[in-house]
Amino acid sequence: MRSEFSTLNVDLDQRSYDIITGEGLLQQAGSIIHQVIASDQVILITDDNVKKHWLETIENSLNEACIKYSSIVLEPGEHTKDFVNVEFLSRKLLDSQIERSTTLIALGGGVIGDLVGFCAAITLRGLNFIQIPTTLLAQVDSSVGGKTGINMPQGKNLIGAFHQPKLVLADISTLDTLSARDLRSGYAEIVKYGLIDDKEFFNWLEINGPGVIGIDVKADQRKRRHAITSSCKIKSEIVTADETEQGKRALLNFGHTFGHALEAKTGFSNALTHGESISIGMSMAFDLSVRLGICPSEDRDRIKKHLRLCGLPIQLNELNVNSWSSSMLLDLMHQDKKVSGGKITFILTHGIGKPIITNDVDLIDVTAILDEYLKV
Ligand code: NAD
Repeated sequence: MRSEFSTLNVDLDQRSYDIITGEGLLQQAGSIIHQVIASDQVILITDDNVKKHWLETIENSLNEACIKYSSIVLEPGEHTKDFVNVEFLSRKLLDSQIERSTTLIALGGGVIGDLVGFCAAITLRGLNFIQIPTTLLAQVDSSVGGKTGINMPQGKNLIGAFHQPKLVLADISTLDTLSARDLRSGYAEIVKYGLIDDKEFFNWLEINGPGVIGIDVKADQRKRRHAITSSCKIKSEIVTADETEQGKRALLNFGHTFGHALEAKTGFSNALTHGESISIGMSMAFDLSVRLGICPSEDRDRIKKHLRLCGLPIQLNELNVNSWSSSMLLDLMHQDKKVSGGKITFILTHGIGKPIITNDVDLIDVTAILDEYLKV
């Protein structure tokens, strides 16, 4: 049965794990999970939306594999990734008399994955956890690589830990119930991989992207699977080379320095999803690179055209930004984890597939780009 699925190993010595991708994987999750858990105690954590569509399927599969479990359901939405829920979840776990050998399963999007991963990292000084990502964004990005954490009023993901999962099970069928908006959001991170690592992949996306997300054409499962497995391969190679972001891994933050500031400014609300803010952030990074004379404007125009074609925002015009200013956004950017010696680290680009990491950027140029975007 497992031959229908693609398996990619993330090679991190003792923290290595498989990413298994395919359709109908949830029905077989129990038997696969059985092979990686240290004891019979499993706690499944999900959100209310995912519960409606997929909790029963995985629970049946755990029952079939004779795995004992209990389930905890949280509210959906970015606001769930906060300290209140860390405390709530940790208390629930301790009430369940967990042991170090207990395994947590995060069934959901990046919010559930990041929150559950963080609780797994800190509870009893480290529990095992498994990621079962159910959004496109989580399947191509957040479930892989071991970054876990929560947001703070000061900024995005400012409290967190590196904690690798024991297994990632990405069932592509779960995307069938995802909203069109969330599919598009996840697609922004797929485009990111082409932009930071693989021009050929971006060329492929230019032709096949609409089929991956089913925009203007029928969704094509084969293309979707190719986009997901290619993205995971790029991410896992970068994570394997630099697990704790001492260098190259920062490339994965392309578009995020700008994007995180936008998310914080909108109060982590529904006004802007994570993927949408990254789409605008990547456009800003290209605009800044063109302004600095290090990137051809044709590449900038190509990527903006593609993001727009795939229904992703590249401007701030759908937000109420009347009261915003470039200095407010710059202040938020200074709260970013990547600030060093007071200087913001930017991921800029020499063109598609040619990113650079630099903290040698004049804030006058950054301000000019932000002002341009705020002129809506
Ligand atoms: P999300 O988890 O909020 O999910 C989006 C929405 O889809 C939610 O309403 C959720 O309930 C719903 N949903 C999830 N699966 C569904 C399904 N199969 N059917 C129907 N509805 C479903 O958001 P997201 O876009 O998955 O993740 C965004 C988060 O991921 C952000 O907090 C971001 O910071 C984080 N992230 C983390 C990393 C990392 O490396 N840890 C990387 C990228 C993003």
